Amino acid sequence: IRKDSDSELIHIVHVTAEMAPIAKVGGLGDVVTGLARSCMTRGHKVDVFLPFYECIDREQIEELKLIDTYSSYYDERWIETRLYGGVVLGIHVMFVEPLNDFFKGESVYGGSYDETEAYLFFSRACLEWLQVRGTEPDIIHVHEWQTGGLPLLYWDMYHYLSLKKSRIVLTIHNMEHYGECRQEQFSKCGLDGSVYATEEKAVDDRTIGHNPERLSLLKGGIVYSNAVVTVSPTYLKETLCSGWLAGTLIRHRDKYFGILNGIDTEIWNPATDAFLPAKFDAKKVEGKKQCKVYVQRGLGLDPEGDTDKVPLVVCITRLVAQKGLHLITNAIAYVNLLGGQMVVLGTAPDARVGREFEALAHSHNQGSNIRILLMYSEELSHMLYAAADIVLVPSVYEPCGLAQMIGMRYGAVPLVRKTGGLADTVFDVDDRLQPEMANGFVFEGIDEGSLNQAIDRAFSYYRQKAEEWRGLVKKVMEMDNSWNNTAGKYIDLYNSVRVRDQ
Ligand code: ADP
Repeated sequence: IRKDSDSELIHIVHVTAEMAPIAKVGGLGDVVTGLARSCMTRGHKVDVFLPFYECIDREQIEELKLIDTYSSYYDERWIETRLYGGVVLGIHVMFVEPLNDFFKGESVYGGSYDETEAYLFFSRACLEWLQVRGTEPDIIHVHEWQTGGLPLLYWDMYHYLSLKKSRIVLTIHNMEHYGECRQEQFSKCGLDGSVYATEEKAVDDRTIGHNPERLSLLKGGIVYSNAVVTVSPTYLKETLCSGWLAGTLIRHRDKYFGILNGIDTEIWNPATDAFLPAKFDAKKVEGKKQCKVYVQRGLGLDPEGDTDKVPLVVCITRLVAQKGLHLITNAIAYVNLLGGQMVVLGTAPDARVGREFEALAHSHNQGSNIRILLMYSEELSHMLYAAADIVLVPSVYEPCGLAQMIGMRYGAVPLVRKTGGLADTVFDVDDRLQPEMANGFVFEGIDEGSLNQAIDRAFSYYRQKAEEWRGLVKKVMEMDNSWNNTAGKYIDLYNSVRVRDQ
């Protein structure tokens, strides 16, 4: 293992609702695992606290053992709680298991217990254990609304008890989830909820004037953390300009930062990927062509001849409004019209959207150009990124986005809408101002016409400038979107807020 030690080594504890691969729902899980592994490679000590969800597959945890039994407060009682330790992808994880019904159920979210109260309990239980055992990490890193209550508990309770040294960093992965919490729910964690119902503290701003009863755990987390991070510089700007949290973020502007997520380049590596029929990398790209033909044959798409005139576009995504559903359906029709090929791999949590895409699948999947696959498949996603000439990400908003970065690693040229993290990672080939950055196709409008123009440009480039296209493929594969590149920014931030030993 490469060890790139930073000069001063620190102790970081993540407190999170998700962690890949054992408890992953979305990008949050990937980020915690990727960032933790990268910080460890640099020599730092990292622990992750995770609820011991009933649905976690115990087989995936190495060296699982009971570390401690203790009690943590909830709703005027002390709940007996077990703390287990184990190792996941080399990371030391502490699993918090209260002996009540919290975190029981078949999936990470959606159990029959009250999630707001369960995560407040979890937040306090982690601090309680650190206090009881006298452990004081340099940094406690919390994520999203689920652990947004921890900074309040830290500064208004545990700091007055015995936890003095730790400082708190909050990362917001998606501002849409604000952690709505009634005052009396909040009070169950042991702090008086009414104290926090002010504009400066944690009142839910959408309800000012009519419902001071409601708090937002995410807002409280922003106010009480020492530093707040969101997952790309452009999303940071967007969130300062609009949205109900803008006022709070502006007030706390001096401690608010945008740091891009990375991708795990061991998991996403076309040179070693076990899912691929042929391996390749930037120096030896031939295998990519074999992957394309393999996928075309496998899906019954017309395999192209020698002419390289049929670009293959892939779109791998949750089918939700945020991802630009109208633009995805438009792209299917337009790519078909232009004689290209397109594969959509996605799942729709909403039944109406599901029916719409099933209808599209029904009308296209018998033809020779379009495949719409309504399922979740890790394996297929690897093959599709490897086969693709173009990866399409037409999001309405996108805090960071992983698909464009994964696509590039596999030599798929990104075609994206200019928003959030997409705007920070993809730069248009026709942008004369910064040609050295150029790595894809970008459109701004939210209308079909803007997307179509970008598809036109990408297809002409692919069909008429074969040599340049090959250069572009090589260039995107050589870009470094790994955590090695961005974890250093988190380390700098940790160092800027932590308490240094005398
Ligand atoms: P979000 O976190 O909003 O879903 P991201 O782009 O940050 O969006 O991350 C999405 C990740 O999920 C990517 O790694 C993508 O490949 C993967 N993904 C999305 N849908 C599917 C699917 N149906 N099958 C396999 N992987 C998928």
